[in-house]
Amino acid sequence: MFTADSARKWIQLSAKQIQENKDQLSQLDQTLGDGDHGLNMERGFNAAVDQLDQDTTDAGKVLKGAGTSLLSKIGGASGPLYGTFFMKAGTSLGNQDRADVQELSKAFRTAVDNLKKRGKTEQGEKTMVDVLEPVTEFMEGQKDTLDPDELEQKAADALNKVIEFEAKKGRAAYYKDKSIGKQDAGAQSAYYLIAALATVLK
Ligand code: ADP
Ligand code: MG
Ligand code: MG
Repeated sequence: MFTADSARKWIQLSAKQIQENKDQLSQLDQTLGDGDHGLNMERGFNAAVDQLDQDTTDAGKVLKGAGTSLLSKIGGASGPLYGTFFMKAGTSLGNQDRADVQELSKAFRTAVDNLKKRGKTEQGEKTMVDVLEPVTEFMEGQKDTLDPDELEQKAADALNKVIEFEAKKGRAAYYKDKSIGKQDAGAQSAYYLIAALATVLK
């Protein structure tokens, strides 16, 4: 069951994961971009934690609020994309105080579809979508329970595949086939968000 407390823990743990790995995220973005992804994400998630709705029992409201913070504070290409993801996940959950696996996977589907629309991107273009959508597909295949270890493994497997993709979106696309063999910063940060969610669901 995913509750407002789960949502708060998810944002807090994500912020911690981002903080601990911000140098790696910026280094990846240095190789295929402008080197600010770690800092962007740190700024965004710190704001999301500061502005976290501590009172509500409404999981959707927590995620919508986090999305708003991310949208205004991450900046860069990833700000509107992660902002959209969390806001739309929150909207999909609506104002219920607990979501089951199917409701959570529906929220992920709504979130990832809107992110793709905003980024004009599909799977296979070496972005955060290459982690978020396979994870969503995995969730959609689950009935009543979601094994957090399997969820984390799905994200790790998806992340591994991104290395061999050619970048088609964002700054990394300028590198064309030279982007093959390198990891995408946004896919790596998406992995940390899913790893944090898996920990919360344990
Ligand atoms: P910027 O490139 O503006 O500096 P960031 O460094 O914060 O922004 O984010 C870069 C990440 O954003 C990339 O690694 C990629 O995963 C993701 N990204 C960039 N453009 C798109 C897009 N159109 N759709 C989906 N994700 C994208
Ligand atoms: Mg960047
Ligand atoms: Mg930038």
